Amino acid sequence: MEKSIRKARFLAEMSGPACGSAAAEGDPLFLQPIGAVEHHGAHLPLATDALVADAVAARLVTERPDLDVVVMPTLTYGTSNEHVWAPGTVSLSPVTLLAVLDDVAASVRRAGGRRFAFLNAHGGNTNLLRVAIREIRVKHDLMTFLAHCDLPPDNGGPAGDPREEGLGIHGGLGETSMMLHLFPELVDLSLAERRIPSWINEYRALGFEQGSEYAWLSEDITVDGVIGDPTLATAEHGRARVAESVRNVAAAVEEMLVFRFGTGPAVRS
Ligand SMILES: [Zn+2]
Repeated sequence: MEKSIRKARFLAEMSGPACGSAAAEGDPLFLQPIGAVEHHGAHLPLATDALVADAVAARLVTERPDLDVVVMPTLTYGTSNEHVWAPGTVSLSPVTLLAVLDDVAASVRRAGGRRFAFLNAHGGNTNLLRVAIREIRVKHDLMTFLAHCDLPPDNGGPAGDPREEGLGIHGGLGETSMMLHLFPELVDLSLAERRIPSWINEYRALGFEQGSEYAWLSEDITVDGVIGDPTLATAEHGRARVAESVRNVAAAVEEMLVFRFGTGPAVRS
């Protein structure tokens, strides 16, 4: 019974012919999770963003089997040049990442896919992904979309907990809580330290969301690149945040599956 209604699945677990017929017989959304491997302070693992992207995508498949979505293997690496000063960070250059995303999109199109989305868990990827979805739309005639697991305030997300003064953007309360819920064995809270760069809020015209901005490296912002307060993190907060993330992504995917521009065809072919 459950099998007959299950539409959501993982590309890596499908056969090639099954993938081809899923695209030919339906109009699934091919969903590409993307994270990063970058310094997150001493208390979190380097792959935090990739682990979160992977977990949210997996929960989407488990909790919303009705969605006609094909979840692709998580792209672990992203663009993390704001953290390259820190050991362990592995960053694809913007040019390399755009090329990789273009190749993935071309593969989706060859499989017969018409709808393609990124599910992003790293704020440093966001601007590049916005460029990528338009480039892919033009070049491969795919309907393209971008969703976020948990949008940070430096990329348009909510300001967050007032105890972090709206500055909990990297390795802080939110991210550490989600990891405490998802992968508690990978978190060492004994090494967590509060890092709130209050000086940022002394500037009125310049800032993360002020209209005018500066380029920053995480070492410019705090002594160890953590931006937020991981000492406030709890697994319970993480559980709620992950659940909200899955709900938000599911709501976005529902619309991506039916989205059309005006009355025209979704794609030209
Ligand atoms: Zn992160």
